Amino acid sequence: MREIGHFIGGKHVPGTSGRYADVYQPMTGEVIAHVALASTDELNAAVANAKAAQPAWAATNPQRRARVLMKFLELVQRDYDKLADLLAREHGKTVPDARGDIQRGLEVVEFAVGIPHLMKGDYSDGAGPGIDIYSMRQALGVVAGITPFNFPAMIPMWKFGPAIACGNAFILKPSERDPGVPMLLAELMLEAGLPPGILNVVNGDKESVDGILDHPDIQAIGFVGSTAIAQYIYARGAANGKRVQGFGGAKNHMIIMPDADMDQAVDALIGAGYGSAGERCMAISVAVPVGEDAAERLLEKLVPRVESLKIGPSTDGSADFGPLVTREAVERVKGYVDLGIKEGAKLLVDGRGFKMQGYENGFYMGGCLFDHVTADMRIYKEEIFGPVLSVVRAPDYHEALRLPTEHEYGNGVAIYTRDGDAARDFASKVNVGMVGINVPIPVPLAYHTFGGWKRSGFGDLNQHGPDGVRFYTKTKTVTSRWPSGIKDGADFVIPTMG
Ligand code: NAD
Repeated sequence: MREIGHFIGGKHVPGTSGRYADVYQPMTGEVIAHVALASTDELNAAVANAKAAQPAWAATNPQRRARVLMKFLELVQRDYDKLADLLAREHGKTVPDARGDIQRGLEVVEFAVGIPHLMKGDYSDGAGPGIDIYSMRQALGVVAGITPFNFPAMIPMWKFGPAIACGNAFILKPSERDPGVPMLLAELMLEAGLPPGILNVVNGDKESVDGILDHPDIQAIGFVGSTAIAQYIYARGAANGKRVQGFGGAKNHMIIMPDADMDQAVDALIGAGYGSAGERCMAISVAVPVGEDAAERLLEKLVPRVESLKIGPSTDGSADFGPLVTREAVERVKGYVDLGIKEGAKLLVDGRGFKMQGYENGFYMGGCLFDHVTADMRIYKEEIFGPVLSVVRAPDYHEALRLPTEHEYGNGVAIYTRDGDAARDFASKVNVGMVGINVPIPVPLAYHTFGGWKRSGFGDLNQHGPDGVRFYTKTKTVTSRWPSGIKDGADFVIPTMG
């Protein structure tokens, strides 16, 4: 059995807490590894290591730091197949989808290669007589990332890429469900020339997370996961004086206007609703056709597509989606389908009974489709995080705009229409952080920033792009006076440049 310990100070170290978790291969249901769960002492040792290594890394000029990232990008290309295979086996998503998970992470590392430019400060020459003002961005010190199971390559890279480029040392606490890929990424960073101690992977559960939240030497925490935990991390981290960004769950709507191209809308819904078995924070889980006629036309095309979804093991590259992450996840999602029926929604496609031939112990379920879901139902209000799409019929555009605007989550939303005026109005008014216009999963590219609103995101800076650099640095502003200095005597009035 593969034993996964921690990666601290540039070395694999075994766990010493005596606590382990099973890592499953969802496509077969087998346990394929044991991962160590760190104690607070182990976490503290990793932080001490990072703290000792960080000043020299921050003092390394940014071009040299960028070169390490460039080499890392090359090494990931070399090992792409191995990484994607392991990711698919531990997570459950298909290998082509696992490749996308890696790719969207690499794009943020590519962006972070521009760090010499991104960290440049501002300069005001002659702000007063003989006075110049300039600002600089400096690394925070030791920072941390706590990441979810559903993007085990992308989200760790979204965090450690910018943080390390900025000159910080990083503690990554990945999901205990699929820790294999984060460990390989840390090995590759070391091979790329990163000094030992700058990227540490501490595997664990609540104990190590609480250790991060309370550690006086950790300056900032980037979290991604479910909303309840995001809020907990935000509150406890902030109470300890840390900078915290906590990204949480979602309920992403797709509005289908009567003038939309229904073939395009259905293609978009099938991919965005069921890809990765719906285990994406930007998955579409609510379809909102506007008007009865649009609803009928949509469902006529959608139902046969959901019925014919191809589910397969993660290594079947032709499958539309693979298994869910754990047996408990399957039970939870099926529980929501049972609940939806009780709440009065109409189940048009029932995937609960799906069995994968030859993989009977795997964590599979088929795609489910509900019609006549209403805003008071729990299946509408709560995040299901599985291959279940709910159709909520809206009588008009205003109701379609109101639904995502008033939902407690505000991660992503999409509108399908040929009407530029409706699209523009929607994008401007909807109370959601990321909007797609004829784009179902509007995950911004690496040089923009990613972040949901309302209970999908706590804290005030987004992930990656310029915000990622802001989050992992602090601004120092210097006001300097050379010619006469303070020789003129003390001044007790607040300085102005008037
Ligand atoms: P999760 O909240 O269970 O776990 C996330 C991290 O928190 C893991 O590292 C886990 O070990 C840790 N954790 C879990 N329980 C904890 C506790 N009680 N105390 C302290 N730490 C704890 O989330 P998950 O199931 O791994 O991921 C799925 C969730 O993540 C979904 O809700 C999804 O929408 C969300 N997500 C959000 C985004 C986003 O950017 N908004 C992106 C991806 C996933």
